[in-house]
Amino acid sequence: MPRRATKWGDERTSLHRDCDVLICGASFAGLAVARELRGAGAEVLVLDRYEIGERQTSACGIPTAWLSAMGLKEALQQTFPVLVIHTPHGTVHFDLPWSFSTFDYRTLCELLAEQGSFEFETAKVDGHTGQTVHTDRGDVRARLVVDALGWRRVLGDGEPIQPPEAFLSRGLEVHPFGSGDELEVWVDRSYVPAGYGWSFPADGELRVGVGSFDPRYHVKEPTVRLASDLDLDAIRYQGNWIPHRIRPATERGVCFVGDSAGHCLPLTAEGIRTALYFGLACGRELRAVLEGRLGREQALARYAAFSASHRRKFELLLRVQRLIPRLAPRLLARSLRAMERKQFVDWAFGHYLEIAHPRFARAPVAA
Ligand SMILES: Cc1cc2nc3c(=O)[nH]c(=O)nc-3n(C[C@H](O)[C@H](O)[C@H](O)COP(=O)(O)OP(=O)(O)OC[C@H]3O[C@@H](n4cnc5c(N)ncnc54)[C@H](O)[C@@H]3O)c2cc1C
Repeated sequence: MPRRATKWGDERTSLHRDCDVLICGASFAGLAVARELRGAGAEVLVLDRYEIGERQTSACGIPTAWLSAMGLKEALQQTFPVLVIHTPHGTVHFDLPWSFSTFDYRTLCELLAEQGSFEFETAKVDGHTGQTVHTDRGDVRARLVVDALGWRRVLGDGEPIQPPEAFLSRGLEVHPFGSGDELEVWVDRSYVPAGYGWSFPADGELRVGVGSFDPRYHVKEPTVRLASDLDLDAIRYQGNWIPHRIRPATERGVCFVGDSAGHCLPLTAEGIRTALYFGLACGRELRAVLEGRLGREQALARYAAFSASHRRKFELLLRVQRLIPRLAPRLLARSLRAMERKQFVDWAFGHYLEIAHPRFARAPVAA
């Protein structure tokens, strides 16, 4: 359970202190790291500019097995055994070998936070000098520092890479009230030249959005148009940049996890299970340091190597992401129809799940 000591307004006190582990970012990646440090006897501090679960950062779709493996099923909203893909030349149904579910962001974050044991403070993280992290409330010094702050990679060295030059996609969605029972995707250039649209039903609301692999392409108009084509109101917006290239997972003594390390999968922009997966991996290495089983440098090197060992799969997905917009729409539709065969879907989605399999949530990494 996190201990909250959040201060607002006049009560917002300065935050100059030391701790053993400082985790910057209290979303999927940061909370997964914290979970693995429970009971390690260390002083763990988690920072975020918002309260835990306050700002939803995605459509919140994840393979159901990840929710079960992490003990987070209470957050589940709807489950989908079939993925429906619309193109201008027809619709295909992929009967998945494993199901996908939507979940409630706040509930999931709160459940995940309860699995950890840490202090939590709201503060904006601005940068770092060595092991000292600068925030708008003061400096925090820690032996182990984690950047789980998302795509900006705030604690990275060098000039931050800003869109549109960076390897980023952009995503925007609206959350109209309504219901549905299909997980739907649109690969249709009338909405976005390179990317896709989606509709994820989630227990009384629909999360309808458009993602563009090309960061120069704005997605507000197509998002509104997709909602309108579905007879839905474009209300309650939520959007962000989405990294689509994996980056080094450590840099000058800092561990990067989730979007800050480019752990979001290219092509599908699925970044929640990978944020959890790499968060667990990072947390296990840091725990080994706290328990004296590994030195700090050794643990960071192991985590960096673990992340880098996934690079080939991430790059393969990036190649497919770049290929699809170049295919003639009719050829793409024909190809998708050919892939509809159960045997192929089982094979392809089986390999896809293997990139960050839920069994990892149950199996500790031996140090
Ligand atoms: C519109 C959209 C829909 C998406 N849908 C899905 C989906 O359905 N399924 C899926 O798997 N992926 C989805 N993604 C991708 C997914 O949201 C991300 O990959 C995922 O959230 C990454 O998790 P994270 O913990 O690394 O970062 P984030 O979830 O972005 O969390 C970063 C945290 O850091 C905090 N923070 C940031 N900067 C600072 C700062 N300077 N100081 C203090 N705190 C800070 C933020 O408040 C936040 O809590 C979607 C993305 C978008 C944009």
